[in-house]
Amino acid sequence: MSDYWLKKAKKRVIQAEQIGLDAVILMLLLYEETLESINRKIISFYAKNSNSSGLVFEEISSLLGGVEKEKFVKGIQSKTREVGLNVYDVYDPARINRLTRLEALREEVFWETMAIVPILIRYQREAYEKVIKKSYLTGRKDIAKYLGKSVPQMSTNDRIIKTLLRENWQGGNFYSRTWANNSVLSARVQNALPKIVSKGLISGASQEKMQRQIREEFDISKNAAERLVRTETNYFQNQAELQGYKDEGIEEYRYEAVMDNRTSEICTELNGQVFEVSKAQAGENYPPMHPNCRSTTVVILPNELVKE
Ligand SMILES: [Zn+2]
Repeated sequence: MSDYWLKKAKKRVIQAEQIGLDAVILMLLLYEETLESINRKIISFYAKNSNSSGLVFEEISSLLGGVEKEKFVKGIQSKTREVGLNVYDVYDPARINRLTRLEALREEVFWETMAIVPILIRYQREAYEKVIKKSYLTGRKDIAKYLGKSVPQMSTNDRIIKTLLRENWQGGNFYSRTWANNSVLSARVQNALPKIVSKGLISGASQEKMQRQIREEFDISKNAAERLVRTETNYFQNQAELQGYKDEGIEEYRYEAVMDNRTSEICTELNGQVFEVSKAQAGENYPPMHPNCRSTTVVILPNELVKE
């Protein structure tokens, strides 16, 4: 009997992972597009402000001219709008008048990376909604069917989805973690460009070096984003099932780890252990126990309880 439930549970894990993976692919593409856009900006910056020996101090430290300033404001406006802000919510006009070309480039790369946050969140939200819906419905239906109960109306569970998406666990939720991840990226990409340039410093600021450093920062963030989605996907899949357990009056569950050479110590230890549904806590006795966790749980059915 337990094999049957384990098979079902594992199938749900794989389904959820696939949905998460689809979101990861979209997110990685978006990161890649953003990186390309930043690269184009750097190339054009170098083309405008260099001579045969590299960047020219007088050029990069000159204030934005009329047309340049207009272009800057327009570009920043389109990016700040993505996060629900106006360019003048963020910049005092007097500050824009004092921006050098280098400072303007730093501002532009910052907003390039921040502007994608709402899209990264949308890709994830759509995936997690699907994961919750699927895991909850199939999980609960399986139990109800087994118990000989009629399956209540469960076409959509907006309340469950909304509650789960917003819920904080391990000090945050996917919204806050996505913002945090990209804030770090924005700051680091910005810092890959020199802040204040002296004549001596700019000779070392080669275009290739700058681009390489920015790519490395993007790679770190891409990995973090992928880990985030994997972990959140596992969280939502398991939380949706937990909600199904509660709604069907299930009292206990058994922890099930994927046992192979990648299994963490903590999941190896928890594998096979039985816990009360009412005391289930992600990171304590319920998956995910750690980033990239692949564990799940199966129901302990009333008749199994009697047998024990
Ligand atoms: Zn694990």
